[in-house]
Formats: sequence, C-alpha cells, structure tokens
Amino acid sequence: MQIASHLPAHDEIGWGQRLWELSCIVVAALLLVTHVMRLAETSDIVTWWLPLVVAAGMLSADFVSGMVHWTADTWFEETMPLLGRRFLRPFRVHHVNPDDFLRRNFIDTNGDVSMLCIPVLVATFWIPLDSVAGQTCAAYVVAFCVAGVPTNQVHQWAHMPRPPRLVRWLQDRGIILSRVAHGSHHRHPYAMNYCIAIGWLNGPLNTINFFRHLERLVTAVTGLQPRSDDTDFQAQVASEQAVVSHPR
Ligand SMILES: [Zn+2]
Ligand SMILES: [Zn+2]
Repeated sequence: MQIASHLPAHDEIGWGQRLWELSCIVVAALLLVTHVMRLAETSDIVTWWLPLVVAAGMLSADFVSGMVHWTADTWFEETMPLLGRRFLRPFRVHHVNPDDFLRRNFIDTNGDVSMLCIPVLVATFWIPLDSVAGQTCAAYVVAFCVAGVPTNQVHQWAHMPRPPRLVRWLQDRGIILSRVAHGSHHRHPYAMNYCIAIGWLNGPLNTINFFRHLERLVTAVTGLQPRSDDTDFQAQVASEQAVVSHPR
C-alpha cells in the first residue's frame, strides 16, 4: 500500500486559527521565561533536591503525554462530536499517514499544546514563593511545562529524516525522543512507546506492561475494546487504497 497521495491528511488551518495558535505560543513562551526568572531570583531554590524536582516535573510531562496519546489512540470514535475531528482524527491520520505531520509548520505543530499549558502557567502565579515548599512546587510545575510545551515539536523531530544537528545529537543520546524509539510506536498495532514529550518513560512503562493493564481495567469496567476505532479507520483506508490501486 504505497499510494501516499490518496491517504487521509491533517486538516488545513485558516489564518484566524493560525493567528490564535501563534498567540498561544508567544504567551506560553513569555510565561515560561517569566516563571524561570521569578524562580531564579529566589535564593532558597538552590537545594540538593532541585534536580530531582526538575526531573520529576519533566517525567510527569512525559507521563501525561503518554496518557493523552494512549487515550486518543485507544478509546472513543473519531466521528464523535466536538473532540472527534479536532482531537481524535489527527491521531488516526497520523498512524496511516505519518509523513503528513512533516507538512505542518512550527505554528501548526506547537499551538495546541501551548494553549493547554497557558492555564497551568497562569495558575502558577498563585503559588507563593516565600517558602521552600512553594518554590519547590513552582519549580515542579515550571519543569513540567518546559518539557510539556514542545511535546509536539519533539514528536515531529522524531519523524524528520534529517532533523537539525543539535536535535539529532540529543535524539541519539536518548535525551529527547529518538526516531528509533518513536518508530516502534508506528508499527502495528501502534500500542507501545506512547510517551512523546521526551520519551524517558517509554522503557519503564513497556517493562511493567502499564498500558495493557490499564486497558484490561477499562474494558472490565466499560466493556469497550481497545483500538477498535483505530483498527476500523485503518481498515477503511486500506479498502479505499485497494480501490485506488485496482480500479474496476
Ligand atoms: Zn499513536
Ligand atoms: Zn508519530
């Protein structure tokens, strides 16, 4: 099945939405810089456990990226109202036509995650920085957002045949999600290595079979079968491709 031109593609976004997404990226970046500067001004923050707090924040972002990705890949139908077209369909399209992701520019790639992180970054201003506990909590949230905001960018880099040299260096050392690690997710049935923020948790979560246990729990409670909509979408695309390949 090699006829890429007829594969489903991501929706094109208009200039209004592009402007909105650009605004979200700028606001999220400004908020992140502001928080880092506020934290840097507090002398109490430099403690032996600060690297652990930062690592915990970044690992939490990786975990959330895995949970969101797993949820979208595994449950619900892409035809459902509201979330279907905007949230679920891009994940379905991405499995059958991963290269289409490379068509999306910087704004299109990073706008949505930036938008989701803005409320978290705004709420962080309410964490008081006059105590070690408050500073630790704020450092955790800021580290979470530092790793979380570029999730889709890191994901797109993992699909690039020739990413920027520094990115490649980071990928090759496992500092960010590598092509090889993410490539494992893109093999049927698309059911491993869900974490795409930095990818550090993919190995541990695979080892304990985390998502399969979670799926068994969801199926026991709801009766739903994992990946049924994703499987149907792939079958539909395959049948359309067969018609294109062998027209009657
Ligand atoms: Zn996926
Ligand atoms: Zn991917």
